[in-house]
Parts: sequence; structure tokens; C-alpha cells
Amino acid sequence: MSYTIKIPSYINDFKCIGKECELHCCQVWGIDWYVSEVERIKNSDCSQELKDLVARSFKKTEHDDIVRIIFGEDKDCPFHDKEDRLCMIQKELGHDYLSHTCKTYPLAGTINNGTILRYRVISCPAVYDLVTASPDACDVYTKARKEDITTVNSCFVDTETDVSDNPVLMYRNELFDFFYGIISNKNTDIITALISGILAASKIDEFAAKDVKRIPEVIKALTPQMTNPATLKSLQDIAPNLSVKLPVLKNLFSSLEIEVPFRKFIQNGEGTADTDVLFISPEQYNDYYKKFRSCFPKDYIIRNIVRALYMDMQMPFIDKKDSIFANYAYFAVCVAAIEYLGVCIAASNDDEVAVRAKFKTIVCHLARKLCHNTTTNKLVLDFIKSINCYTPGYISIIVK
Ligand code: SF4
Repeated sequence: MSYTIKIPSYINDFKCIGKECELHCCQVWGIDWYVSEVERIKNSDCSQELKDLVARSFKKTEHDDIVRIIFGEDKDCPFHDKEDRLCMIQKELGHDYLSHTCKTYPLAGTINNGTILRYRVISCPAVYDLVTASPDACDVYTKARKEDITTVNSCFVDTETDVSDNPVLMYRNELFDFFYGIISNKNTDIITALISGILAASKIDEFAAKDVKRIPEVIKALTPQMTNPATLKSLQDIAPNLSVKLPVLKNLFSSLEIEVPFRKFIQNGEGTADTDVLFISPEQYNDYYKKFRSCFPKDYIIRNIVRALYMDMQMPFIDKKDSIFANYAYFAVCVAAIEYLGVCIAASNDDEVAVRAKFKTIVCHLARKLCHNTTTNKLVLDFIKSINCYTPGYISIIVK
């Protein structure tokens, strides 16, 4: 079978920074291994020390053929050498003995209807650095069709059953290009672009409900509107409503159970335990927002982070069963939440270098939670629905 392959331009520049990495992929996650992969190490020529470590470092999961790494008390992978910060399995046996996830991370992708989109996940700090290094890092290119691809590692595949359950999935590629084009439009700011995407998502759902096959025609009709300067200006001129936006975002962190760890992380050394670093009043917000943005004077940086998150969430379908609007609303609220945390960091830290470093850590950590965890989107959407904000108007207010 032949495929069309689409890739962002940064993809081949990736290099794992190994022991220099401050945010190891071996930390925080419990990486799943196939039982056969573990057995292969047990039967190898490795040291007894490694065999003993393997014997006590995996726990059962709900799947008979999959086991999960047990973290130490330091929340680190037990195979992670504490001195040189390298993987003991890789050091003794080589790359081939790693689990599928360890071998492929941070590479990921989607496959739909003969098109493969390849990207790298932004939870990896080396990917964050690449994505934010140049304006065109996230420009997506189509490569020549390749014949006879039999296996494609680490890709989310849209199966025939997926498409028959939700026929809108048939148009994943067209919808990806359409929404990615909107957030990539350099003639408008990223917030306005996100809002125009919210309105477009709602419109597409309206037509899809009547006749799904009209989606290409609707995309074609909406595309000039999404780049029309007058339309973009009118969206840009919408006044923010911070008395709605700020409490929604602050309460969202509690529902995601990230409030406590992030509170500690954002706070600088001089803060007190009483300081609520996740609270910013509407009166202070604009000043702190400007301070945050001044730490990223190059406009493309935040835009590229948003574009990378869009790919990492397998948009426009992080949830294949849900509508375009539901998926886009999730994406837009996540971006708003990440930006809000950036503003909180700027509010609590005066050093620009520290703001940038902390924001990078927040993006990488949150990407794990928001993009690689299929239950988070349900949590976020349930929360938005529970406070009656699940409409294009309210989602736009949260983003603005
Ligand atoms: S998070 Fe990225 S840079 Fe760090 S060790 Fe893993 S692959 Fe390498």
C-alpha cells in the first residue's frame, strides 16, 4: 500500500539529549512493557544485578501481556542509573532490548486513509527546544508517496470500525489541514486564530450532522472567511471577560488534580505557603500577561508550542468518538490553561530566564497529562459542561 507522509520540518533534527535531560521520559510515567520484552532481558546474557532488578521492577496490569514499571520512591525509573543518568538496559544490552515505548519515544503519528502524519511529542524537552527554535519548525510538509510500508511504529491508526462509528473521521486529513492552517496563519495572533477555529468547529458540526459528506465543501467555503482580515479583526476586537475566564481556569486545575504540585513549582523561593500563585485578579492579569509575553518576544514561539500541542493531541480527534467541536473545545481550553500557568509563573518570578525555564517544564509536564492520557479530555469537557460553559461563546471567553 502507498502512503502520503506528512511531517513538520523539525522532525529529523531530533537528538535525545540523554544524560543532559532534566525532564527524563523515564520519570513520572509508568512505562508499559510487553511481557515478551521483559522475558527477553531475563533470558539474555546480562548481569545478575540487572536480572534481579528486572525481577522486582514490573507489576501486572489489566492486560495479561503487558506489565508496568514500578517507580522508586524518587518517582524515577528503576533502570535509570542515578550516577550517569543513563538507562542500564541500554548500557548493558543495547537499544534493541528496550521496550517498544522506550525505543520509539518521542516519535508518534496518526494514520488515516492512506496518509501518515509523523510528529514528535512535546513532553520531551528536546522536542520543545526544536519546536521553539525557529519560525518554520512546525511547518508541515508532504513527502513523496512511499510504497510498501508494512509497519509504522507508534502511530494511532483510524480503523474501518472507528470510521464507521464516527464517519466524520473519514475527513481527518482535510480537517487537520484546515484547523492547522488556521492556527498557523501568521497574519493574526494565536488567540484570535484559536477563536476562529472554535467558531469553525461548531459550524462544521452543524453541517456534518445533516450530511457528513458535505465536510469538504464546508471547509472550502469557510477557508477564505478564516483568513479574511475584516473577520479576524472583528474577532481580535472582542473584549476579554476576565471575571469568567480566570475562575474557570483556576478551578480547572483542581479538577485535573494538578493544582497542588504546580502551586509548589510555580512559587519562587521567596514566596510563602500562603501566597496563592494560581490566583491572579482581573485587575492584575493584563500586567502579568504582558510580562509573560515579554519573556517570549518572538511571536512564533507560543504559536509553535500550540501547533506542536495540536499534533500531539492527534487533533482534530484526540477522542475519535466525539464531535469536532468537543475535540476543538478541549484543545482550546488546554491551550488557555497552559497560557494561564505561564502568566502565573511570570507573576511569581522576576527573572526572565527562570520564567522561560519554568514554562518549558510546565508545557512538557502538562503535555504528558493532556495529550498522552485519554481520560483527561473527558475530565476537562465534563468540568466545562458542569459550569455551563460548553458553547462556542464561552470557550472563546476562556481562550481570550
Ligand atoms: S525526554 Fe527526550 S531528551 Fe529526555 S531522555 Fe527522554 S527522549 Fe531523551
